[in-house]
Formats: sequence, C-alpha cells, structure tokens
Amino acid sequence: MRTIDLRSDTVTLPSPTMRRAMAEAELGDDVYGEDPTVNKLESLAAEKLDKEAALFVSSGTQSNLVAVLTHCTRGDEYIVGQNAHTYRYEAGGAAVLGSIQPQPLDFEPDGTLDLAKVKAAIKPDDYHFARTRLLCLENTQAGKVLPLDYQAEAGAFARAHNLATHLDGARIFNAAVKQGVDVTEITRHFDSVSVCLSKGLAAPVGSVLCGPAEFIKEARRWRKMVGGGMRQAGVLAAAGIIALTEMVERLHEDHLNARRLAEGLANIPGFYVDLNTVQTNMVFLSLADSLVDAFGPFMAKRGIIVSKGSTSLRLVTHYGIEAADIELVIQSAVEYSAQFSLN
Ligand SMILES: *Cc1c(COP(=O)(O)O)cnc(C)c1O
Repeated sequence: MRTIDLRSDTVTLPSPTMRRAMAEAELGDDVYGEDPTVNKLESLAAEKLDKEAALFVSSGTQSNLVAVLTHCTRGDEYIVGQNAHTYRYEAGGAAVLGSIQPQPLDFEPDGTLDLAKVKAAIKPDDYHFARTRLLCLENTQAGKVLPLDYQAEAGAFARAHNLATHLDGARIFNAAVKQGVDVTEITRHFDSVSVCLSKGLAAPVGSVLCGPAEFIKEARRWRKMVGGGMRQAGVLAAAGIIALTEMVERLHEDHLNARRLAEGLANIPGFYVDLNTVQTNMVFLSLADSLVDAFGPFMAKRGIIVSKGSTSLRLVTHYGIEAADIELVIQSAVEYSAQFSLN
C-alpha cells in the first residue's frame, strides 16, 4: 500500500537525481577543508542567500545552536519566540552548552514578535542584568510567512538597538516561493540565516548556516566543538546541492496541496481548520472530542499517517505527496466523520 505520511516534511526521501549525485560525489576530508562537494554546497548556499559564507551542518538544531553560540557569549541573552524551535524544541542547547540566557516572548498570531515587546524586553546596561545581544526570528513560523516589511523593520530595529539578528529559516524557501520573491529579499534583513535542506527540499540530512565570513569562521570552530566536523560529508552535501538547485520551485505544489487539503477538511462535520493560517505547506486541524481517539488508527488503515492522539494536529504536505493523495485523505476523512460523529 502507498503511504501518505503527513506528520512532517522531514519524512521526505531523496529524489532519484539526489541518489545519483550522492553516489557519484567527489569526496575529501571536510575537516581539512578538502571535500570539494561540501565546498561547492557552501559557496552555492552563500551565493543563493547573498551572504559572504556558509557552513554545512548536520541538522537545523546544530545550525541554530552554533549560530547562537557564535553571536553570544556566556552571560549574554537572546530574545526568541516562546514557541520558536530554537527555544522550545532544541533541548535548551544554548543555555546548557553556552550559558546563554533565552528571553522568550509570545509570538503574535501572524508569527512575528511585536517589536514594542522586544524593546521592553531588552535589558538596560546594568550589572544586574544579562546582556541582551541577539534577536532570533523564525520564517516560516508554524507555516506562516513573515511579512517582508516586518522583517525590514525588525532588522532596522535590531541595528538601532545594537542587537545581532539570526533567522531560523528552516523553511525560508517556502516563504520566498509563497511571496514570489527571491530569497535574498528575506535574508538581507538578517546577519545570519539557517536553512534546512532536509525538509521540503528533500535532502536526507543537513542544514546550511549562512552569514558574514568572520562569523562563519567562528561558527566552524563551534561546529567542531559540538561534534559536527564531518569527514567525507560530500556524500550528503551532494544531495544538498540538488535541494537548492532543483527542489525550490516545486514547493508551490506543496502549498497548493495544503490549501486543497485545508479546504476539503474544513467542510467536514467535526473538523475545524482556520484557513487564514494555511499559507504554505502546513494545515492545523482541530477535531471534535468524539473524533480524536480513533482518527489515527482509521487513517492508518488507508496508509495515511498523522501525528497521534490530540484534539489539534498538524498536517504537512511535501515532496512525494501528490494531488491524488490529498483527495484520498479528504475522502477518508469524510468517511471517518460519517462513521464516528455523534450526530
Ligand atoms: C525542523 C526545524 C529546525 C531544525 O530541525 P532539525 O530536525 O534539527 O534539522 C529548526 N527550526 C525549525 C523552525 C524547524 O521546523
């Protein structure tokens, strides 16, 4: 049976072109700086994001960690979203390994941080306080695209307050494709940007951290320290090159599929979707209480995999999921609702 895995875009498998590129990649020892394929990926990423340099890292978590460690030092503080991946889903790495204090703030409904609240959170220069050093944003944030003018404003705000800026752009290309702009229209507002190659772009492993040459030089030292100095990593970087050159434009298909899925589900009794939050490849679905428990098992019998056991769940479209799959998901949900709704 064909599997339709909607849990995350991290489940994507490498494309046939990626597999070939991986098999044929020219390799060397990247800790000596001698893997030509890693070097090629790093220059390509820097060029695409219009930054001086880039660093191939093992994951988005390692990328954000190394970025915060490079921007901040012991006793510094970074301002970040309460539900941001960097703060909430990375095991507290910056605090644990860097003695860097997070200052989390609630995201606004559109995925931004309110700059007035950020301003109020910046600590005065006084020895009672940690030194506020860095502002971290996330784009896309829970599938939502940050407005371009907001990002310009946030960049200017940070410079005016002597803060460095880091963008967790795990899905930045989803944002750029959605807005129909070159990704540099986003990256130019931030000092450093992290991009996942292993989500909708379908590489099996890896992220790239991009920023000024001096920053990346320092980040390379931190990457080594946290165990991210990989040897013949060109085997992985080869897939990353394909991710950046061949997999970006197709992201709009994922967005169309998510929109169709959201609209289909929103019409089903007991299914609730806020269509305003469906901007890229994520659909947040709430279920009536009576529908929660049996949903996962019911869908699994049809080869559809969803995150389990909650009134609110996230469905993610990605490479490998086709329009026909979406119709099957909607049809299955219709049957499920008819069978399990109390009314
Ligand atoms: C997935 C993700 C990351 C990094 O995840 P890894 O699994 O460590 O690669 C970082 N930020 C956001 C917003 C993400 O969605």
